[in-house]
Amino acid sequence: MSAEIVIHNARILTMDDDHPRAEAIALTGNRIMAVGGNAEILALAGPMTRVVNAGGATVLPGFNEAHMHIFGGSVSLGELSLFGVKGFDALSKAVKDYAAANPRLPLLVAQTADYTILSETERVTRHHLDRIIADRPFLMLAPDHHTAWANTKALEMGGILHGKDVGVGNEIVMGEDGLANGELRETNAIRPVASMGVTGGRESLGVGTGGEPDHVTAEERAGDIEVLKKGLAYCASLGITSFQNMDGNLYQLEMLDEIEKTDGLAVRVRMPYHMKNFMPLSDLKEKAAAWKARFDTDKLRCNFVKLFMDGVTEGETAVFVDDYAHKPGWKGDPLFSSNSFNAVATEANRLGLPVAVHAIGDGAVRMVLDGYEASIRTNGRNDMRNRIEHIEVVHPDDIERFAETGTVASMQPTHPPGSAGLPLEPYLTYIGRERWPYAFAWKTLVDASATIVFATDWPVSPLPPLSCIGDAMTRQPWAEDMPDHRLSLEETLTAYTRTSAWVEYMEDRKGMLKPGYLADIVVISGDIEATAPENIATLSPVLTICDGRVTFEAGGDR
Ligand SMILES: [Zn+2]
Repeated sequence: MSAEIVIHNARILTMDDDHPRAEAIALTGNRIMAVGGNAEILALAGPMTRVVNAGGATVLPGFNEAHMHIFGGSVSLGELSLFGVKGFDALSKAVKDYAAANPRLPLLVAQTADYTILSETERVTRHHLDRIIADRPFLMLAPDHHTAWANTKALEMGGILHGKDVGVGNEIVMGEDGLANGELRETNAIRPVASMGVTGGRESLGVGTGGEPDHVTAEERAGDIEVLKKGLAYCASLGITSFQNMDGNLYQLEMLDEIEKTDGLAVRVRMPYHMKNFMPLSDLKEKAAAWKARFDTDKLRCNFVKLFMDGVTEGETAVFVDDYAHKPGWKGDPLFSSNSFNAVATEANRLGLPVAVHAIGDGAVRMVLDGYEASIRTNGRNDMRNRIEHIEVVHPDDIERFAETGTVASMQPTHPPGSAGLPLEPYLTYIGRERWPYAFAWKTLVDASATIVFATDWPVSPLPPLSCIGDAMTRQPWAEDMPDHRLSLEETLTAYTRTSAWVEYMEDRKGMLKPGYLADIVVISGDIEATAPENIATLSPVLTICDGRVTFEAGGDR
């Protein structure tokens, strides 16, 4: 039997410790047929085989983005990106140009607006935005999506200009004049405005409430599916063959299932059951476990539980062990009590569902570790591959507990202030210098034998994995006496391939290039090992194959 695709003359990094390097690879069906030297693999080619001469390019297992948001990310592709935009004049021009180019949008939305987009000291208010655009509703989101700013028109149309109770941990910030000042903190505060957009804000439900949209027309649903397909194609164009979504609801699962049954998913998807603090524990059995049974293929699976323990540092909603450095007496309020989180972790694990928790501050991280310990005490096992998302600050007393509890550190090399064009303030002042050594401390965690996976949290940060890999390898300390957190290429690639497959219990079929494994491959222009870390972002995928199917080809039409 001949191979369907042969790639030869390549620098193959298999991520398989037994056979780390090869020159050529053969695929048949959706599987890897053989990996080896040029001659032996070319011998597997027949008259119908597609033979690709890689010309010395690098071949890797397809990237597995361990934390992102497909629906929100896909929607963001059609929105204004303010990445790298600084100062009022530049902001004004970008927004005006976008508004002029999109005369019919019901809501103008901009992404990736730094907290310091105006200056280091001035916070954005509706008055700034009104000076840019007053006659159409405009919403601007911070990179982390935990804070947004709206102009007066948007606040009025969303019915929140006079404020509104949006629940614990959410806030419509009020001005001295008794009206909303334009800053909206957390999803429940942002949604009244965001829901006026083209998708009706449906993309934020998975993360906001974990709930389902109501009254969706067939036309709206078809539009949402088209948006998702664009997002999936975008992932494939970046060499991504798998991603783990960090919000979920049945609406998204059913649309993705439909895409798989019609066009075939261009990327493998793992989606969680999103648990909120108002949901009864019985939902884990009645919904989460039921969805796990229903969506359980190598292309689409729903087999873990996601929840939020805190918010973000810049919004003062992250939870710390000690007070915020700029605000004595304030540590942040957790979104779950210890008791209720311990119960969720224990019950989810009992049902065979791993847990992934957003925890930014060291206080939230500690509560999650406590909950995983509680689960181990009750369930008597610690191979649950439970994870903590972000871990922006870890308390020194908790570093060893990751390895002890088998907790996976899921971190974002694109997130440290100072990296990827992000400003240093107000972050550094808010956490204070004593905590700097323990911030975004991925090297410290790796050295303490923690298992680590990497991702961008798209659309929070730009999605290209090669940029993110470069960021992990070039991280600059905030001061000379701070620890060096740069990782090696091998450590970083492992976090993006083999370990991210392991964390979703698929290490027996993906994350490595070896015979019998799923044919998930990316071919990258150039020799990644010979490229300086600061230049890795300039490399680009030329061919992506997922499940044996070409999902992206540079210069191709998809
Ligand atoms: Zn996220």
